[in-house]
Amino acid sequence: MAKYTPMIEQYLKVKEGAKDAFLFFRLGDFYEMFFEDAKRASKELEITLTARDGGAADKIPMCGVPYHSADNYIQRLIEKGFKVAICEQVEDPSEAKGIVRREIVRVITPGTVMDGKIVGEKANNYILCVTEQEGIMAVTTCDLSTGELYVTSSPSSREWLRDEIALYSPAEVLGDADLLEFVKLESANLGVQAVYTVWEKAKDELARKQFGEAVWIRLEEQRRHVVALMMGYLSETQKRSLGQLTRISVYEPNHYMILDPFTRRNLELVETVRERSKKGSLLSLLDRTETSMGSRMLRRWIDKPLLQRARIEDRLEAVGQLHGAYILREDLKVLLKDIYDLERLVGRIAFGSANGRDLIALKKSLLQIPSLKNLCLDSGSTTLQHIGQALDDCQDLASLIDASIEDEPPISVRDGGIIKAGYHEYLDTLREAGVNGKRWIAELESQERIATGIKSLKIGYNKIFGYYIEITKSNLASLPEGRYERKQTLANAERYVTPELKEKEALILEAAEKMVDLEYTLFAELRDQLNHQITRLQKLAEYIAEIDVYRALAAVSADGNFVRPKLTDGYDLVVEQGRHPVVETVMEGTGFIANGTNLSKEDASILLITGPNMAGKSTYMRQVALIVILAQIGCFVPAAHAEIPLIDRIFTRIGAADDLIGGQSTFMVEMADIQLMTEKASVRSLIIIDELGRGTSTTEGMSIAQAVIEYVHDEIGCKALVSTHFHELAHLDSSLSSLRNYSMAVQESGDKVHFLRKLIPGAASTSYGIYCARLAGLPSGIINRAYDLLQEVEQGVSLAAAGRALEGPITLSNSVQTDIESDYGFDLGIKNREAAGKQKFAVVQGHPSSD
Ligand code: ADP
Repeated sequence: MAKYTPMIEQYLKVKEGAKDAFLFFRLGDFYEMFFEDAKRASKELEITLTARDGGAADKIPMCGVPYHSADNYIQRLIEKGFKVAICEQVEDPSEAKGIVRREIVRVITPGTVMDGKIVGEKANNYILCVTEQEGIMAVTTCDLSTGELYVTSSPSSREWLRDEIALYSPAEVLGDADLLEFVKLESANLGVQAVYTVWEKAKDELARKQFGEAVWIRLEEQRRHVVALMMGYLSETQKRSLGQLTRISVYEPNHYMILDPFTRRNLELVETVRERSKKGSLLSLLDRTETSMGSRMLRRWIDKPLLQRARIEDRLEAVGQLHGAYILREDLKVLLKDIYDLERLVGRIAFGSANGRDLIALKKSLLQIPSLKNLCLDSGSTTLQHIGQALDDCQDLASLIDASIEDEPPISVRDGGIIKAGYHEYLDTLREAGVNGKRWIAELESQERIATGIKSLKIGYNKIFGYYIEITKSNLASLPEGRYERKQTLANAERYVTPELKEKEALILEAAEKMVDLEYTLFAELRDQLNHQITRLQKLAEYIAEIDVYRALAAVSADGNFVRPKLTDGYDLVVEQGRHPVVETVMEGTGFIANGTNLSKEDASILLITGPNMAGKSTYMRQVALIVILAQIGCFVPAAHAEIPLIDRIFTRIGAADDLIGGQSTFMVEMADIQLMTEKASVRSLIIIDELGRGTSTTEGMSIAQAVIEYVHDEIGCKALVSTHFHELAHLDSSLSSLRNYSMAVQESGDKVHFLRKLIPGAASTSYGIYCARLAGLPSGIINRAYDLLQEVEQGVSLAAAGRALEGPITLSNSVQTDIESDYGFDLGIKNREAAGKQKFAVVQGHPSSD
């Protein structure tokens, strides 16, 4: 066995308690790492690996980072998904007997990091904990930097857990080993990059104290357990009180519209599919908030559209009132602009890391609140008036800070200069002493100049010698022998002291030292005082965020010409002149074509949409989903009129997500999505399928497509928009009473196809693929042969696929609208419309070149 030096022995002992973290071991002005940690850290951080003698035969690998720039290195490790344990000296080296005691004072992990670049201002940084007991899964999610803590549970279901994790995209997930194993698999699919920490130590008592007995006993068993686990982890890693966690937000899964992660992606709610950037998402369109708190709340709203009509109406009421009140919106904006991130400020106060500048930011923010309150009270909106009444403006706290903290305090809280004059009597006395002492020195300087006749005599100060009288060599002759005591000789000057000067110096330095200590004590006291007011400040922060979001939604709605949706408890979804809110802004006035939607139980709950690529099918289908989501988060919608029944869940199966999932075939993914849909969809859901039945042979694809559509129609009965390139499926409208054929209008002129982006009744013409081949210049022999083959194949397949339809009496619905042509005045590319009405499979007949 190697025998190490006592210091290395100490290191090894501490390291036992932080096996899964890099141990930053404080030695003087450095944090040092040893052994494996050193090897890995030197690679990860690109710092030099050295070695030191540790008592054993071999030298010990070592690398280190300077104490004062450690934050940067810690941040880099956290960003890479590592944990960092900070080990400090916990006793004064001058008092230590033997080796200085060292302890881990905090473990920083990706999910618990509080500041720095990693915690983006506008996004939350979540840590999530999951448990499963007796068929119930419970999840709690916490953002230490803002003090939010959510908890919910559900009968065990992988999909539910997956959705829940995707909702938060946590940086870290805690749980027991088995559960984490599959969570890891699921979230890898979702691109959630989390660190997984096996954690089984619950702290019930701590949690009970933290949130209060009354709250605690009302929580269900499983939820209590998961929160206790989370508290166990947080207290073990943070090793300090977590005053910012004041409240548990409990929610039931069925209080929100369910959006699985793929649907969130497909609809580009908070980031785009391809660039994975916020720009271009619904969130970025809506995010006209002025505060980071507002921005984060907006995101939470988008993540969880509501299902309770009354709550949505409250939101719509506020948005509606602000929608028509430009000046009020501008007034609010001016106030909100000057409000800092209270949630994070409060987090730092609770954590004990707030400095003077944070408190000044808090004060400045609080000073906006009385006016904000008045604006709410005078807004004319019931929702905002309620907020106005409930708003505690915390002016006592603003006054407290105003009386105590300098307006421009330094960053450091240990060097003085923070506390205002007049706040504390003894501090004022010490300051006075310091000022007097300095005045005495200034007077001494002028007296001595006169007495010695040396005009250049000056009194200076440095850290090593303290105060001194300096006389240049050329003047030394004029200095009476023995007047001062010589202290230091420089190249061209001599420095002296006198007993009185030394005496004064001691007084000045003592006062300065006491002052700095006292200032720190006073500051810490004040911070502590504010710490007791955290609940008030958090509540305030939440109201501010809410006001900010209403203002943002109103601004977007007003500028975008949105209308207030009418929410109904019925089935029918009616949108007149609907637009895609994001695509429309990207197109900037070049004319987004509005399209209506009318989905009703009796008439048309399923729209089967055909049309060539690029015709606008998927834009249209997403637009319908986005309008529903906007309505249910409480925003106006891009339409001329909208009636929205509360939708409990939106499923999408859209091609664009294919490239997100490595290793699985498109077809398998599609089938898995459809399986989930068949299992989970209710009559109140909305299903969107883009290009159903791709990825396998035509016949099979089409058969599956037909079977799925029939199932949705007969068994689920929910609203659905389905696009397909199998125009042969158009015949389904004769056998499925509430399915309607629609297509995206296309105009052909000469060799060109123009997309009109207008949704029109009736199925699309067949042969755009071959048409495109012709446009691409393929020889006419090939083109004609292709058309012939197509016709043969389609007739065969159609007849086979018609099995079901032929069973019953054939009632052909004539979906042709004869006014279309006159409306548009050109051939819409819907070939053989008349025939479609009369003849079952007429939509597949004919081809453009032979017409
Ligand atoms: P498809 O799904 O039929 O292939 P997309 O929905 O992807 O077609 O639309 C293709 C492009 O057409 C979109 O990128 C968009 O720029 C444009 N587009 C779609 N719908 C409209 C519309 N209603 N008005 C104007 N342009 C549109």
